[in-house]
Amino acid sequence: MKAEIISIGTELLLGQVVNTNAAYISRELASLGIEVYHHVTVGDNKDRLIEAVKTAEERVDLIVMSGGLGPTQDDITKKTLSDYLDVELILHEETEEKIISYHKNSDFKMPENNQLQALILADSTPLSNDTGLAIGMMLSRNKHHYVLLPGPPDELEPMVDNYLKNELIKHILEEQVLVSRVLRFFGLTEAQLAEKIDGIISEQTNPTAAIYANSGEITVRITAKAKDDDEGYKAIDKVETKIMEKLSDYFFGYGEKTLVEVVKDRLKEKDLKITAAESLTGGAFISELTSVTEVSSILEGGMVTYSADKKNKVLNVRKKTIEDFGVVSGECAVEMAEKAREMFDADIGVGLTGVAGPSSLEKQIPGTVWIGISYKGKESFSKHFHFSYKRNRNRRLAVLNALELVRRTVEDLPIDNREYYGEDNQ
Ligand code: ATP
Repeated sequence: MKAEIISIGTELLLGQVVNTNAAYISRELASLGIEVYHHVTVGDNKDRLIEAVKTAEERVDLIVMSGGLGPTQDDITKKTLSDYLDVELILHEETEEKIISYHKNSDFKMPENNQLQALILADSTPLSNDTGLAIGMMLSRNKHHYVLLPGPPDELEPMVDNYLKNELIKHILEEQVLVSRVLRFFGLTEAQLAEKIDGIISEQTNPTAAIYANSGEITVRITAKAKDDDEGYKAIDKVETKIMEKLSDYFFGYGEKTLVEVVKDRLKEKDLKITAAESLTGGAFISELTSVTEVSSILEGGMVTYSADKKNKVLNVRKKTIEDFGVVSGECAVEMAEKAREMFDADIGVGLTGVAGPSSLEKQIPGTVWIGISYKGKESFSKHFHFSYKRNRNRRLAVLNALELVRRTVEDLPIDNREYYGEDNQ
């Protein structure tokens, strides 16, 4: 199945609004194995919209339009399609009732033309709008499928996710269900991950596998179309096994849980308390931990010591360590972790020191980071990293890598020599 997306709105052509809808729809269609061949943008103009639809009909089966379903003069999409396809516009009563009751319950008087949002093309399948008033729709005519979606992303996205995808699966792809599983990875860049599973991804049409990167963590979503859930998950299991053969070393969890949530869960399960002494991250590591719920069961406190003097006077890092090795050193990171652990009576202590940049420190280049780990009953250790980004991204990567080191330590996984736990230059 080939698809084309037509985005409608003069504001898009003027550059006032970035066309995020096309990207979103493309990604979602790709997850169903539908290939999007073209993105086209037209203004709020009937003739040019018809021209775009005619062109799309010559080259694809599925034409997805976004925008212009609202009640105003420039919202021309439905009327244009109605005239062009010679299909009547009829009232969708449920939507009309929703519009009337919305206005009854609010202080706004209902403008007369608001009911235009309740009109749908005859014979089309309505697509509910959970977050707005304009109804969406899908119509099949002469071997083509036409989908009309509202412009606002907060209306379009739930409509696609909750309704359109299921309609496409049931009525166009002739499958019954769509199931998916998300695998989460850390420790390599998006490009490195893609390279490792390139063959697996490119040979897949069902299930499909899609990679997304988000601030250092990478997810792979495997999506299967199938007759039922059981068949779908079996197909997903097979692809997952192939992916894990290449990437199990970097895998940290399933679903929506981020690295910090996984770390919190592990510490909680094992009844362990964590603390940190931070220098270059200035409290960001503790802040990341406190961003998740129930953290009080694993965290009682931590410390920020930025200067060498306060590392010694407040945290009790030995003067000799600082003099012999400097504050940007594995020795200092380990001692910070150990002293913090003692001070906060924790099971695992983390020490974070380094040069965030842009200036150098102790002749060490910006992006140099040492993370020390002190864990009860085990020998303390430190690990060196070098990140070559700007200051705050370097600090963010230090936080994420510290979390990963904690996870690996408490799960008793090998701490290898990987030099680079970073992300692509995005
Ligand atoms: P409304 O009922 O709000 O008029 P509509 O379906 O008629 O909705 P438009 O009027 O075309 O949609 O767009 C409404 C708003 O949605 C735009 O001002 C813009 O902020 C956003 N929008 C429209 N198209 C896109 C797009 N392709 N990508 C991102 N945002 C968009």
